[in-house]
Amino acid sequence: MSVAQDQVVSFHYELKNESGDLLESSRNGEPMAYLHGAGNIIPGLEKAMLGKGAGERFSATVAPEEAYGHRNDALVQRLPIKYLRAPGKLKAGGVALIQTREGMRQVQVIKVGRFHADVDANHPLAGQALTFDVEIVDIRAASAEEIAHGHAHGPGGHHHEEE
Ligand code: ZN
Repeated sequence: MSVAQDQVVSFHYELKNESGDLLESSRNGEPMAYLHGAGNIIPGLEKAMLGKGAGERFSATVAPEEAYGHRNDALVQRLPIKYLRAPGKLKAGGVALIQTREGMRQVQVIKVGRFHADVDANHPLAGQALTFDVEIVDIRAASAEEIAHGHAHGPGGHHHEEE
């Protein structure tokens, strides 16, 4: 069986940036599971998965436009500190939350002044080419319920609260 539409793929991955720094790894836990063709993972990685077999290992480098997009300078803003919520002390290099029309959004804090702070609401991985080292662990047909929900269930997939 190889990766195709409406299959649930379990895989381990290591994510590196352009400098080769390891940003994320699934190796310390269970493999991640996703429903192929449902947009559960970034587009460039989903494309690279197509047609691969169980047990296969490969490396895929994904351009920003097929990962987290390009940086948008308009998302770098100076805001009054009273609009920011930080887990600890507000400091440059840390993160904070701001209330937006779409709900709470995490931003990176660039600079903190007396009344204002400069924050960057771009995704931390925006503008970067990302390299995924992937090992496909398992491929199976999705259930009708998974296809209806648009995501994988079970280990490594989506968990619903008990009803
Ligand atoms: Zn579901």
